[in-house]
Amino acid sequence: MNEADQRIGVAIDPTHGKAVDNEQLQAWDAQHSWHPFTPMRQYLTSDPLMIVQGQGVKLQATDGRWYYDGCSSIWLNIHGHRHPYLDTALQRQLAKVAHVTMLGQANVPATLLAKRLVDVVPPGLTRCHFSDCGATAVEIAVKTAIQYWHNLGQPKKQQIVGFENNYHGDTLGAMAVARSDFFHSPFLTLLPPNHQLPYPICPDQADPTAGETCDPALGQDLETLLQQQGEQIAAVIVEPVQGAGGILPAPPGFLQLLRQICSRHNVLMIVDEVATGFGHTGDWFACTREAVTPDILCLGKGLSGGYLPIAATLTTESIYEAFLGEIAEQKTLYHGHSFAGNPLAAAVSLASLDLMPRLIQSLPPKIELLHRRLAALSDQPHVWQVRQRGLMAGVTVCRDRGTGERFHFSQRAGYVVAQHARELGLILRPIGDVVILMPPPCISLEDLDQLLDQFLEAFDRAAETWATKSQDTETQDTDT
Ligand code: PMP
Repeated sequence: MNEADQRIGVAIDPTHGKAVDNEQLQAWDAQHSWHPFTPMRQYLTSDPLMIVQGQGVKLQATDGRWYYDGCSSIWLNIHGHRHPYLDTALQRQLAKVAHVTMLGQANVPATLLAKRLVDVVPPGLTRCHFSDCGATAVEIAVKTAIQYWHNLGQPKKQQIVGFENNYHGDTLGAMAVARSDFFHSPFLTLLPPNHQLPYPICPDQADPTAGETCDPALGQDLETLLQQQGEQIAAVIVEPVQGAGGILPAPPGFLQLLRQICSRHNVLMIVDEVATGFGHTGDWFACTREAVTPDILCLGKGLSGGYLPIAATLTTESIYEAFLGEIAEQKTLYHGHSFAGNPLAAAVSLASLDLMPRLIQSLPPKIELLHRRLAALSDQPHVWQVRQRGLMAGVTVCRDRGTGERFHFSQRAGYVVAQHARELGLILRPIGDVVILMPPPCISLEDLDQLLDQFLEAFDRAAETWATKSQDTETQDTDT
């Protein structure tokens, strides 16, 4: 098929049954779609990509070109697109049943998945509550923590402590533990004030190994807060690497430190590994690396290898037991989603887990290659900071490294780099002035090397753009 053929006949008009071309699809997208987390005015003038199909670590758009999936389809994809093993698992389950409810009944793939997850998460987490996205996994974690204390006769323990710059999803409960004046201003009255402590950032490219300990002083704020107000606090929630905050890894040992403080003060520890789970940090989970068992663990995104929406909130047996009782005692967690434990998603998740052990073994040289090649950015006059944990990397760009002058979030500096990357054949999803690179962990060394050629070249091209573009033009860009 030549390029022209690929541009047309990519879809069938659902109303008239005729083939439609790229222009028509783009017109319908512009007329009828409202894209998530996307300023639509800017989107409509941005010549957006429309994806037709995927294969391995690449995606093909209606322009006929193949692009590296440099953000693993928003941090989800683990084993590549159209993986034969995952496709087969899905087809086999489809031949049985696509969906049944998990409310008050079980299904085979979800049961097997719960058992399997308990085997691979940190020891001590024995109960698995399924939902369908990261935000719902967090909602369940927060409600479980608060009701846990309620059921134990401590109803004052209602507050959740989070960290500045955190992100746990876009539903109200998830927003409530990650308040942001910038993103949440219309909703602030719906979000009760919560504690947000400074988050310690490991500022360089360090890719730490397990077992290291961090400076105990990093836990001092939390220690003091829990000493003073622990009786009102149900849980602490933390991302091992702040993802949407711009790939900000906490220093090694920070989870262990939090674990000790939470246990000392009788406060639950919730770890949100929605973004970090399933290989992205170089291990099954960031918790695995630090040998930490939280009281509640949130998983999503990569759980199904990035194929279908499914999430899980895992808890310890003692938390679960606090919810057992007679109906009249009202100890039940009355929380559930229609698609919880969806059999198709559970079946593909089981297949994804089968592939994980080998995948994790393959990661160290890829992490090393990423580390080595990102070092080239230290010569870049517009690169302010490079951060890496495993196969997650965040590069903050700046107007002038010499003076330390930064771009404002609204200047969409990361987007400028991403547009150049796209011209070169690489899809990235930047956040403000941070360019995020998170390739699917299955990527081969050869592909990673090629992808990094494009990634680094995009920064060179962006530097040329900034050298020639006036500030006025830049400020027309606003972020997605
Ligand atoms: N928690 C974390 C740490 C995340 O990074 C995200 C999404 N980026 C979420 C929760 C929300 O997940 P979802 O978009 O699936 O609701």
